[in-house]
Amino acid sequence: MTEELQLRVLPQVAASEQALRHYVASERGLRENEITRVRVLRRSIDARQRTVYVNLKVRVYVNEQPTDDEYQHTDYPDVSQRPQVIVVGAGPGGLFAALRLIELGFRPVVIERGKDVHERKKDLARISREQCVDPESNYSFGEGGAGAYSDGKLYTRSKKRGSVEKVLSVFCQHGASTAIMADVHPHIGTDRLPRVIENMRNTIIKAGGEVHFQTKMTRLIFGGGTSGGGLKVEGGGRLPDAPRVIGVAAEDYSPSTLHLPPSTREFLGPVILATGHSARDVYRYLTASQVTLEPKGIAVGVRLEHPSELIDQIQYHSKQGRGKYLPAAEYSFVTQVDGRGVYSFCMCPGGFVIPAATGAEQVVVNGMSPSNRGGQWSNSGMVVEVRPEDIIINEEFRMKNEESVGECEALCMLAFQEQLERDCWQQGNRRQTAPAQRMADFVNGKLSYDLPRSSYAPGLLASPLHFWLPQLITRRLQQGFKVFGRQAHGFLTNDATMIAVETRMSAPVRIVRNADTLMHVQVEGLFPCGEGAGYAGGIVSAAIDGERCADMCALYMNSSPT
Ligand SMILES: Cc1cc2nc3c(=O)[nH]c(=O)nc-3n(C[C@H](O)[C@H](O)[C@H](O)COP(=O)(O)OP(=O)(O)OC[C@H]3O[C@@H](n4cnc5c(N)ncnc54)[C@H](O)[C@@H]3O)c2cc1C
Repeated sequence: MTEELQLRVLPQVAASEQALRHYVASERGLRENEITRVRVLRRSIDARQRTVYVNLKVRVYVNEQPTDDEYQHTDYPDVSQRPQVIVVGAGPGGLFAALRLIELGFRPVVIERGKDVHERKKDLARISREQCVDPESNYSFGEGGAGAYSDGKLYTRSKKRGSVEKVLSVFCQHGASTAIMADVHPHIGTDRLPRVIENMRNTIIKAGGEVHFQTKMTRLIFGGGTSGGGLKVEGGGRLPDAPRVIGVAAEDYSPSTLHLPPSTREFLGPVILATGHSARDVYRYLTASQVTLEPKGIAVGVRLEHPSELIDQIQYHSKQGRGKYLPAAEYSFVTQVDGRGVYSFCMCPGGFVIPAATGAEQVVVNGMSPSNRGGQWSNSGMVVEVRPEDIIINEEFRMKNEESVGECEALCMLAFQEQLERDCWQQGNRRQTAPAQRMADFVNGKLSYDLPRSSYAPGLLASPLHFWLPQLITRRLQQGFKVFGRQAHGFLTNDATMIAVETRMSAPVRIVRNADTLMHVQVEGLFPCGEGAGYAGGIVSAAIDGERCADMCALYMNSSPT
């Protein structure tokens, strides 16, 4: 017999299956040895009151063994002889597109500018040790994309439960803990993600697909008009003369060719373009090639770092902090100041602030945490919504940046990001040292003469962020922090450090696609995908978008006679 129950229990009861079995047995009048398993289907923490509870949905197996799977298993058939699709970028968008293509009977050829997920780690260490950023291998570029050395938080605002469960199931099938199927706020952790990503790559190769590292797409290959097999448009017709992408040209920087100038290789097939929000060269190439892009709102601000003990005390309402059975506490804040959102984003309890630049003369910060979230600090992005109209009409920004805004209005938000990142690099001593300020000093417009210790390995430099960051950000952050400080007593404190600048939360453009076919509005055979295309934000939504692009690409392949 099985029974599903909703429970509200203390953290020590939720902490182990044995304690839960004991609890359920006494609640249901059963003997403990009659209960063969208590499987947690949903888990969330309710810390609104002084006593913290864990809400659980459980399935109890009485006198029988579970036969149902904890996640959906996907079959990956041999596609070695099937038509190929080029997937550019091996982040969550590209990897999930490739796996879905295999399910649908197509052969993915994945090209990735960065290194494999293990080799890449050495370049990440060099950023802190030598203050040097490899433009092809960093926190954004390389196998696993921006998601690989992240927190691996897997929550999303997507309401498509089926799609979310599928993505979580694929992660489990490739080695993630099945706890992610139950947790309301699931996360994998930066220590575990690389193995999961490597397993996904092995699935692609075992099924007959290809994965090429250190291979950078430099241009699209166009095949002229639609030659009969064109893009279907509403009403059943076809676009007569849409340019058609038939592949990509890429430069090969792999170790076997390093002694030679990079060679150019061509990969032929329709293209799923999943190059992420930091591939600025791709945006510039597309703009120059007249492939339509439009500017998109972004959010920019700082990483805010508190001692994790303080966050635990605030969120769990106890001087003792989280105790033995609760995880490092999370928080989430949101408010509106002068018509723009101010909010916390990508909170990393017990995590690190990391240098996320992708090139020279940039300082960019982000956050990650390991699976146990056991670090001394907790950080989050604290950001302000910025819209294209804020930049285009903003005198303060325009004066500094006339040239890059002039470059192209579609890239105005990108130019804004670049300007902030360059300012931070200059303020931070022209190294990866990040400018920083104590939180209460920032709110009060005071210089911080010293800074608290921090997890940010390249080092911090005290700097008056309130003075030199653009007013459209500082004014709103100051107001927002006051609101958050009133909501959570102790949160607005000089024990917290603001580290600048967080600019890469989302894409600064949208590579405009048709809402039905997911193909580019002008270019046949090109499927802009994931966060870089402006259609996702976060690991799960990029993965879902990757699957959707693969579905639409398969439809395109099946309807195209050539
Ligand atoms: C430090 C950090 C922590 C994060 N933490 C979280 C988190 O906890 N949870 C969450 O949901 N999200 C998190 N994010 C955001 C998340 O990682 C992204 O939303 C997600 O990775 C986007 O997926 P994507 O596949 O669209 O793009 P990306 O992951 O950016 O992947 C794009 C890939 O394309 C490759 N590429 C670019 N240009 C080319 C080219 N010309 N040729 C070949 N390859 C190319 C890049 O090298 C890269 O591997 C974090 C991001 C960072 C940087």
